[in-house]
Amino acid sequence: MLKYKPMGKLKIRKYPDKILSKKSAVVRNIGDKERQLASDMIEAMREFDGIGLAAPQVGILKRVIVVEDATSNNKGVPYIFFNPRIIKQKGRCGFCEGCLSVSGVTSDVIRPESVVMEALGPDGKEIKIETGGVLARILQHEIDHLDGILFIDRVNFFKRKKILKQISTKVCIEL
Ligand SMILES: [Zn+2]
Repeated sequence: MLKYKPMGKLKIRKYPDKILSKKSAVVRNIGDKERQLASDMIEAMREFDGIGLAAPQVGILKRVIVVEDATSNNKGVPYIFFNPRIIKQKGRCGFCEGCLSVSGVTSDVIRPESVVMEALGPDGKEIKIETGGVLARILQHEIDHLDGILFIDRVNFFKRKKILKQISTKVCIEL
């Protein structure tokens, strides 16, 4: 990863930026350009204290996510996944989620508890991960971004209304 120099700061797109509701394209070729993007995304994720980031959040509609699960033993070893997809899911549980693209709000979101995910790594090799807990949560949240879905789209009508009100109130104060 270190061989890729930081290319300058990526800007995090914020709700209601339309790009966040668009579907991302499959990455056909994993080369230096794609790895550089992933490396820049890791830099941005760390800068903003995120534990996951998807390419649309930095304005690029490609199926790339980066993840750094601070609660695991893997802290400091970020994952890069190209074209990730959930192929199996099990159980259901609630978990408090937030998002770098939806600042200042969090909400309990119900999702499958454990998942099996397939993806390609930065070397183009196939990866299969079976996981639960925080990592399963991050993967689902980030893969949702690739399909234009935000966590606030996954909560019920009333919760969503409350969240949107919080967002707009916040903007009013900032103005
Ligand atoms: Zn997010």
